[in-house]
Amino acid sequence: MVGDAVWWQDGLIRKVGCALELERQVPSWVPRYDLPAAVVTPGFVDGHTHFGLWALNRQRVQLGGASSRAVALERIRLGTTERGWLRGHGWDANRWEAPPDRWSLDQVTSIPAFFESVDVHAGWANSAALRLAGISGATPDPAGGRIIRDASGEPTGLLLERAQELVIACLPAADPARLLGLIRETQSVAHRFGITGVHDVEGIEVLRAFRSLETAGELKLRVLFQPPVAHLATLLAQGVRSGAGTDWLRLGGVKLFLDGGLGSRTAWMLAAYEDGGDSALPLTSEAEARAAVEAAAGGGIACTIHAIGDAAVRRALDLLSAAPKVGIPHRIEHFQCVHEADVRRAAAYGIVASMQPAHLPGDVNLAEERWGDRAAGAYACRRLLREGTVLALGSDVPVVTIDPRAGVVAAMDRVAADGGFPSGWNPSERLSFEEVVRGYTLGNAVAEGVQGRRGRLAPGMDADLVAWDVDAAVERGIGSAFREARVLLTVVGGEVVFRA
Ligand SMILES: [Zn+2]
Repeated sequence: MVGDAVWWQDGLIRKVGCALELERQVPSWVPRYDLPAAVVTPGFVDGHTHFGLWALNRQRVQLGGASSRAVALERIRLGTTERGWLRGHGWDANRWEAPPDRWSLDQVTSIPAFFESVDVHAGWANSAALRLAGISGATPDPAGGRIIRDASGEPTGLLLERAQELVIACLPAADPARLLGLIRETQSVAHRFGITGVHDVEGIEVLRAFRSLETAGELKLRVLFQPPVAHLATLLAQGVRSGAGTDWLRLGGVKLFLDGGLGSRTAWMLAAYEDGGDSALPLTSEAEARAAVEAAAGGGIACTIHAIGDAAVRRALDLLSAAPKVGIPHRIEHFQCVHEADVRRAAAYGIVASMQPAHLPGDVNLAEERWGDRAAGAYACRRLLREGTVLALGSDVPVVTIDPRAGVVAAMDRVAADGGFPSGWNPSERLSFEEVVRGYTLGNAVAEGVQGRRGRLAPGMDADLVAWDVDAAVERGIGSAFREARVLLTVVGGEVVFRA
């Protein structure tokens, strides 16, 4: 809606219009925020977060951006322990001088240590952690996972995909009070970035923390909670349905994985990778995935399917297009590589494409190397949009920053992290500023089934909004200018939660 003033009161937007006119109508006791140069948008919703993990990770060893194994090991050496473990996240060994292995870790710490890769599809454990997890040369690879071994068959400490679960099962659970405190603290960080809601994908302990915060009146983010499919039987037995909940916290779909990721070569493709190797494998069998989707949808629960490779995306489309519709849309998370023949299918069945543009700059070179011509179907934002697909944009924090500026710039410019493709990688897929904003706002509202309440600035809508200081170049299509954008004011439910 066009206007130069917004009047909100009692949590709702009353009017959007001309400042002079509103000045006369609005009671004098309603506070005024005078931001003459600001662009006001609906509150940004991050369509894909692991918020609790992020809150915990902020206290753990940060391996993001460690350019070599030596740099990573030095950070680990300085890390602080948590319930007898040393933990951390964010390493990316694609350009390291040596692979992550337990022997190098053993030299910096003898207490159990476990570090997840940036895309969480691989884990790096030391000998103490492997011992606690019972992983030895005799341990078979679990279904959907691989224990990397040396020439003599000994585990190297590198665990792919579901092999990580052997160690994860031994990790001490976060203390509930600590988790709650960290989430409370971290939501203010989100507000500083203009985030007013999240679609969170994680375990039930995080749902409990959100619920306690809500009960205490301290939840200031709109949360759509998406638990793992492992909880499906419990949810069905409880008779809860997707979309159920409160204004602050509601149930989304159950999350299931069809494949891994591009970085760890576990994205399931229709044909072999270009740089050697196979096409990777599905993480969940067709029968198992079908049974889960049928049971969920049959009980009124939506499905949120992780799919990155073109084979995984096709399988997800097959499964979801056959599933009955429920209260909120079924959705595909990442939707990273889509075969030409499948581009129209999501729109045709009302399946939401939940995409994370901030992954793009780091994926460009890998996608070119490993997917070749098929990379033309990667991050096909504009083609999906043109077919009428609802794009729900997000970050995947803590894999990348929750700062939506990174995603806005990436979706608009499509420039590689190393500066490659300066005029955009597959530039016809670039989105306009307006389209990107809609992806972070209305798109996520549709995905949540609340488009009648949120995602637009209009009378009667929830007063979730952000005032930005934005260079005019952004609206002319120069995404990089949004890197310098500043959040001036963040409002959730009518309450000012951040002011610059
Ligand atoms: Zn994720």
